[in-house]
Amino acid sequence: MTASAPVTQDVHTIPRKLPEGGKINLVGLTRAAMQGALIEHGTPEKQAKMRVNQIWQWIYQWGVRDFHEMTNLSKTYRAELEETFCVDIPEVVSKQVSEDGTRKYLVRIAGGHEVEVVYIPEEGRGTLCVSSQVGCTLTCSFCHTGTQKLVRNLTAGEIIGQVMMARDDLNEWPERGAPKDETRLLSNIVLMGMGEPLYNFENVRDAMKIAMDPEGIQLSRRRITLSTSGVVPEMARTAEEIGCQLAISFHATTDEVRDVLVPINKRWKLETLLEALASYPKVSNSERITFEYVMLKGVNDTDEDAHRLVKLIKDYGIPAKINLIPFNEWPGSPYERSSNNRIRAFANIVYQAGYASPIRTPRGEDIMAACGQLKSATERARKSRKQIEAEAGLG
Ligand code: SAH
Ligand code: SF4
Repeated sequence: MTASAPVTQDVHTIPRKLPEGGKINLVGLTRAAMQGALIEHGTPEKQAKMRVNQIWQWIYQWGVRDFHEMTNLSKTYRAELEETFCVDIPEVVSKQVSEDGTRKYLVRIAGGHEVEVVYIPEEGRGTLCVSSQVGCTLTCSFCHTGTQKLVRNLTAGEIIGQVMMARDDLNEWPERGAPKDETRLLSNIVLMGMGEPLYNFENVRDAMKIAMDPEGIQLSRRRITLSTSGVVPEMARTAEEIGCQLAISFHATTDEVRDVLVPINKRWKLETLLEALASYPKVSNSERITFEYVMLKGVNDTDEDAHRLVKLIKDYGIPAKINLIPFNEWPGSPYERSSNNRIRAFANIVYQAGYASPIRTPRGEDIMAACGQLKSATERARKSRKQIEAEAGLG
């Protein structure tokens, strides 16, 4: 609209301008947002809620992407939807399968950016490790993603789209009319891929709300774990607005060491962090907080560290389990993994103090899919572009 055009219409009746060259993607919209979008584009207000229910089920319960398959909607309405909307998820660029069955996907999102998504099959369950950002603003010194600058936050559609993509690949959308199958290949989600989920709070929340919706993917909030490096101001909100399980990338028992490993610690010190963690389970009804602790040789892996760790958790009265993560190396990583004996001794001290202390088996190492090894090919592309520019005398 030009500046001089008279504004005569009610703003709600003006169709929202379609995104450049495309349609409005319904994936990632909350129910309320979907309802608003439908009304804005001509669905009668009275019908809108019912239409959302119908479309929602097609998309999230049955995995349907084509409006023409939404057979409980009239043909004309389907055609109208088709004109304005789309049901789009990120595109799979490549898929690697590890010897242990772990699958790593590289997916492309708008703007040509790429993120990695990892599926980890286990006995009786399967976990999808989802990314929330391209790169990360934080620079944890042991993390591969931390060496890649933040490119952008993922949208809610791109986050829940990773789950839908994995269900496609696992062929796990239920068949209509078939009896409900309770065993799920994709039974758990962990927000432990690339990025800091609490620096992309709204999109992560909206995506997880979609994952939990009883009319769709239907994962219980107990099967969703959000891992944070310790963004204290967003933790209470996570409990209130998402209510999922929380994991904290703890990794050190003194501020001195944590300042180096997880630099966000300079902003929110251990004491502040532990206070926030102590109140999380009460607000969210979650059972226990998972303390993630990466085992770095000679850095944070002594018996004293183990004793200090359990003392801190006890002093603050936090219901916890301690997940010990053998450090996963990446090209140029400045640390080494603690020996198996050291990890076992550490685990034993934690266990003796009354806390579960599972040692996380590295999965998909042969395809660089293990914790902290993710980094998108965008980075490589960016570097080569730089090189090209330099060669052309532009850099
Ligand atoms: N940004 C969030 C979530 C992504 S990282 C966070 O930091 O919590 C997921 C987990 O992998 C974190 O506990 C992280 O500290 C850990 N991690 C990162 N790099 C690792 C590495 N090289 N080896 C083992 N674990 C690593
Ligand atoms: Fe970012 Fe988490 Fe890696 Fe730290 S560990 S750099 S917060 S992705």
